[in-house]
Amino acid sequence: MKLLVVKRGVAIFAACALLLGIIAAIFAKPVADAVAAHTPAAEFTVVLDAGHGGKDPGVVGINSKVGEAVINLDICLRLEKILLRNGIAVVLTRTDKNSLIDDSQKGYKRLDMQARKQIIMNAKPSLVLSVHCNRFPDKTKRGAQAFYDKDDAAGERLAKTLQTNLNSELNQPLLNKSHGCLTGDFYMLNCSPYPSALVECGFMSNPDDDKLLNTEAHRQLIAETLAKGIISFLHNS
Ligand SMILES: [Zn+2]
Repeated sequence: MKLLVVKRGVAIFAACALLLGIIAAIFAKPVADAVAAHTPAAEFTVVLDAGHGGKDPGVVGINSKVGEAVINLDICLRLEKILLRNGIAVVLTRTDKNSLIDDSQKGYKRLDMQARKQIIMNAKPSLVLSVHCNRFPDKTKRGAQAFYDKDDAAGERLAKTLQTNLNSELNQPLLNKSHGCLTGDFYMLNCSPYPSALVECGFMSNPDDDKLLNTEAHRQLIAETLAKGIISFLHNS
């Protein structure tokens, strides 16, 4: 009788194990398929270029004394996260506070810019966005502006899309009625054949912009706004 109970126990255990095995098999395949379905090769690749770095801080805040290099990188890292969440591959030219090459060597700035170009050429991206902050002698001037190269029609479309989003999300018409995107002769805009725009995220020479750009909330807002513009450009090109 005792043996029978043990045998029945073994049989129940075996049946349970078999059932669990069947359930696992049923659920295993859809899970694997679901993972595969959500990790396709990205349709788009975006190069994000955080301006300056290393011993070049770029423009320095009028009151904060913070260099734009820090702010540019933070906005790029926030933007990268948003784009990745939207299935867009991202290549950063600069991932930390350092310049791309040893900045103690002579002519490092030119070599640093060439290194950025090489990253773009290797990535063969759908677009390039260089992120900077501005300054101007008139300290009342503020707001974000997008730039493009005059010979880059796709870059012009990209800059216009970014500017439209910046104007509405940052409420810029109230700050400066004349804000529109502009042509600019910047190396990052004409060093590659890919659609390129450069955004100056605000004026570090303006006390209000300087203060805003030093808040996480404003940098996140700019990153989200730039992401909207990038996604809109990519899906309408
Ligand atoms: Zn700059």
